[in-house]
Amino acid sequence: MSRVLIIGCGGVASVAIQKCCQADGIFQEICIASRTKAKCDALAASLAGKTATKITTARVDADKVEEVIALIEAYKPDLVMNIALPYQDLTIMDACLACGVNYMDTANYEPENTDDPAWRAVYEKRCREAGFSAYFDYSWQWAYREKFEKAGLTALLGCGFDPGVTQAYCAYAQKHEFDTIETVDILDCNGGDHGYPFATNFNPEVNLREVSAPGSYWENGHWVEIPAMSIKRVYDFDGVGQKDMYLLHHEEIESLAENLPGVRRIRFFMTFGQSYLTHMKCLENVGMLSTVPVEFEGHSIVPIKFLKALLPDPASLGKRTVGKTNIGCIFTGKKDGKEKHYYIYNICDHQACYREVGSQAISYTTGVPAMCGALMLLTGKWNQKGVHTVEEFDPDPFLEALGKYGLPHQETYTPVLVD
Ligand code: NDP
Repeated sequence: MSRVLIIGCGGVASVAIQKCCQADGIFQEICIASRTKAKCDALAASLAGKTATKITTARVDADKVEEVIALIEAYKPDLVMNIALPYQDLTIMDACLACGVNYMDTANYEPENTDDPAWRAVYEKRCREAGFSAYFDYSWQWAYREKFEKAGLTALLGCGFDPGVTQAYCAYAQKHEFDTIETVDILDCNGGDHGYPFATNFNPEVNLREVSAPGSYWENGHWVEIPAMSIKRVYDFDGVGQKDMYLLHHEEIESLAENLPGVRRIRFFMTFGQSYLTHMKCLENVGMLSTVPVEFEGHSIVPIKFLKALLPDPASLGKRTVGKTNIGCIFTGKKDGKEKHYYIYNICDHQACYREVGSQAISYTTGVPAMCGALMLLTGKWNQKGVHTVEEFDPDPFLEALGKYGLPHQETYTPVLVD
């Protein structure tokens, strides 16, 4: 019997929770815990009578290790799924270590306050030494490797779509299609239209920080950093059509550079429409993307948090969003001494997701892999101890589960390559 504690009850978590309830033979009991308990209660109520999974709810502030420890001690889960925000990764990992429970999340650690001098000193050293300046990186969580190994526990990092499924695609290509992978291009296309002039598809704070940061890619053993949005390509996506896409820094490049032996180049591209980019640039120029608090009429306001309050709630976009996503990886490399190309991807339809779970495809394509990753850990299919990213595990049972729970893959051996 499995008991799972799920922390967070936003867009991604609500999909993951509904999917856990579809696999009620494995997820027999779940506790949904978040900062706002009312959201957990509402989701639990909406699932009542539709699943055999026994659902309870709790309030937790996961920024406080002692609150998470108390909850874990009271609930005694087999696994903690962190689907809150990247800010809570380390506190929840600490609590899992203290209580001897396996851990997983969907995004790597990022501090909420990037002006904290202690964090900044480490960050600036990393920028100089590693050569990329994103606020998030794996070093904070990789620092827990030995502790998790010694405790006989597993921490699965970044098990959404990208990061997550994209790394499983890499492991799959490495296992079945190539002797050596030379280049990887990860292409994330959202062809969805929600009809608003500007909105983000997941947490605006996390999303806008990611997109407004400099881009970077891995080439010949080191990082190459470029100004934000300065490398643009046009690509014709299966199921979506032609889109502009831009090179971004993305967290899975960092772990793939370690785990794909001999890889020469790894890049990540995401599609954006011109209207999104114009709005974002304007908001950035006027300071609305800042995380530094400002005094306004006697109140301390963090601009990006205020912006989040003004923008449509990503969870509300599902009903209005039409179109498809197409996310996948294009590989070049060698098999049996011959040059080979391979493209593996998933196409997901926003409205089909909405009909099934009441969310758009961005939350769906993240929530389903989170549930499938949990499934791998709970069934013992993935059981390496320590702190690991998705490409370090056997991709086959994971891709099979993804297909079963709504994200089947497609493939082609003659993809158009990105120049
Ligand atoms: P949301 O903002 O919709 O939800 C976040 C949830 O976390 C909310 O329920 C929020 O509670 C809760 N939360 C925030 N702070 C705390 C805290 N201190 N203690 C307890 N609960 C807290 O985010 P999303 O669902 O869009 O994203 C969830 C995660 O998924 C993020 O880490 C994001 O980066 C990641 N992600 C990963 C992707 C991938 O492909 N790998 C793609 C998209 C997202 P409250 O309701 O009170 O605000």
